[in-house]
Amino acid sequence: MVSLSKKLRQPIVVVLGHVDHGKTTLLDKIRGTAVVKKEAGEMTQHVGASNIPISVIEKVTEPLKKIIPLKLTIPGLLFIDTPGHELFSNLRKRGGSVADIAILVIDINEGVMPQTVESIEILKSRNVPFVIAANKIDKIPGWKPNPDTPITISLKKQDQATVKRLESLMYKLIAQLSNYDISADIFERIRDFMKTIPIVPVSARTGEGIAELLAVVAGMAQRYISEKLLYVEGPGKGVVLEVKEQPGFGTAIDVILYDGIIQERDTIILAGLNGPIVTKVRAILMPKTVTDIRVAKTELKTVELVSAAAGIRIVAPNLEDAVAGSPLYVVPQESEIDKYKRLVQEEVETVRFRKDVNGVVVKADTLGTLEAIINALSKRGISIRIADVGPLTKRDVIEASLVAKADKYLGVILLFNVKPLPEAEDLVKKENLRVFSNNIIYRLIEEYLQWVENEKKLELQKEFESLVSPGKIKILPGFIFRRSDPAIVGVEVLGGIIKPGVPLMKADGKRIGEIMQIQHMGQPIKEARMGQEVAISIKGNVMVGRHIHEGDILYTDIPLEHAKLLVTKFKAMLTQDSIDTLKEILKIKSYKDPEYMYILKNL
Ligand code: GDP
Repeated sequence: MVSLSKKLRQPIVVVLGHVDHGKTTLLDKIRGTAVVKKEAGEMTQHVGASNIPISVIEKVTEPLKKIIPLKLTIPGLLFIDTPGHELFSNLRKRGGSVADIAILVIDINEGVMPQTVESIEILKSRNVPFVIAANKIDKIPGWKPNPDTPITISLKKQDQATVKRLESLMYKLIAQLSNYDISADIFERIRDFMKTIPIVPVSARTGEGIAELLAVVAGMAQRYISEKLLYVEGPGKGVVLEVKEQPGFGTAIDVILYDGIIQERDTIILAGLNGPIVTKVRAILMPKTVTDIRVAKTELKTVELVSAAAGIRIVAPNLEDAVAGSPLYVVPQESEIDKYKRLVQEEVETVRFRKDVNGVVVKADTLGTLEAIINALSKRGISIRIADVGPLTKRDVIEASLVAKADKYLGVILLFNVKPLPEAEDLVKKENLRVFSNNIIYRLIEEYLQWVENEKKLELQKEFESLVSPGKIKILPGFIFRRSDPAIVGVEVLGGIIKPGVPLMKADGKRIGEIMQIQHMGQPIKEARMGQEVAISIKGNVMVGRHIHEGDILYTDIPLEHAKLLVTKFKAMLTQDSIDTLKEILKIKSYKDPEYMYILKNL
């Protein structure tokens, strides 16, 4: 056991959750607590990540010794500094995640929200175990804050009523989570942490519960995923989190190393926009050991060798095209370069592709976000023609406009954190294409789906309006304005709707011309509905006193195809008076054409 523990690396921890539920505050609190508790020489800061050594975790969890007996053998916890989905999706590796364990933050007063559900889905799909931090307990009415105290101790100092409130919120949360197939419980009551997800009540603001949260995360990592943490002293494996300019050095990449070792002058392979990049490490940078974590972000120093797990910045030639979310391998021998190139290529090809199908065009800033969007679209059955990283190009737009000609709903462009190149933008305008752009994945997809729904509704509405609608009118006695050429009479709409252009018939089915214009108070109007009294002019050889008479009932003369559509496709859009009128019309029409009878039976 002892020899094994020596080879364990620290688990990589990510924080996820709905916006404003307190991810950033919680991370700050954890790092802040660590800074306070650490002693000189204990390195806590990495690039893009914060290392919390085991000695610090032991100090923070010291008051819990009696409550949670914990003998830790992992060397610490490596927290990824940026919370949220986008970063998490870039922590990708074949068949899973570089993150070993996650903290899902849920505001206990708000409960499960859309991004909570999204986080659960993404954690499940990548098989990452997680702990729930039920945050903002200090907002519970009556809560007496006990800064930086374990929750178990702070609870003893609360009123009975406050404890009851917390309990009832916890049960509400547990019930909500069960709707998403998550079996969760208060951490103290759990025996098997693999079957039940622990919930730790915390306040990121006051620091209450942070001790328990760290203890549960460390304990779970050590107990259940230590095989994954067995550290191999072989060639390093990592993932590129960010590509950025490093003043004085050119382009650099921020990397999370999750296995093995990387050294200066190592040959590394990673994905580039135009194929795999093979290059040699010029320098590895890490923050200087300082006490203030905010300073550590800017002051870096070179290190010769780093072993997993670590967050590092790598400076090397030819990194301009490097893609965030890409796997990174240290090549053990020059002869294996081709093998590793293929490995990178294969991993990237499942995410970046062009297919000859009618589907949407997706461009994203990183492989991870691209992959998350692909998954979200696929889950909804939306096909994809182009999935790629980088700005929108003219070629992408040409492809989208090809699709648009075949299927307007799929001939669209989805952009995540990338912009169109100028010539692409011009072409988008010229081709009148729809572009959706949002920096939150679920919003991007929602916006697109909403648009599709609205367009389909509009299209349906347009088709509905193009049909002859059911209408029944009565010629009002005493309101004959003109007898013929054209006849103009006052009518009352008894049911349904009348519009200019619709043919009319009498109650015996005899056609008597078409409505030319409808007027109300001397103004032409587009339609008249049940209860309205209007004047209509009738086109065709219609003479009042001969073809029609005062007091006559007239109906709109609905063609067979229109009648079929009204009953099969648009019934839900018809008002009750329209349906009643339609029944009367179908009955009249069925004297001459029995097919109308068949439609009537289905109404
Ligand atoms: P994020 O979007 O999930 O990263 O949320 P933030 O960490 O930015 O927090 C959102 C807001 O909630 C901020 O105003 C925080 O100060 C506040 N907040 C976060 N945690 C707590 C907490 O435990 N208690 C209280 N009262 N407020 C909190």
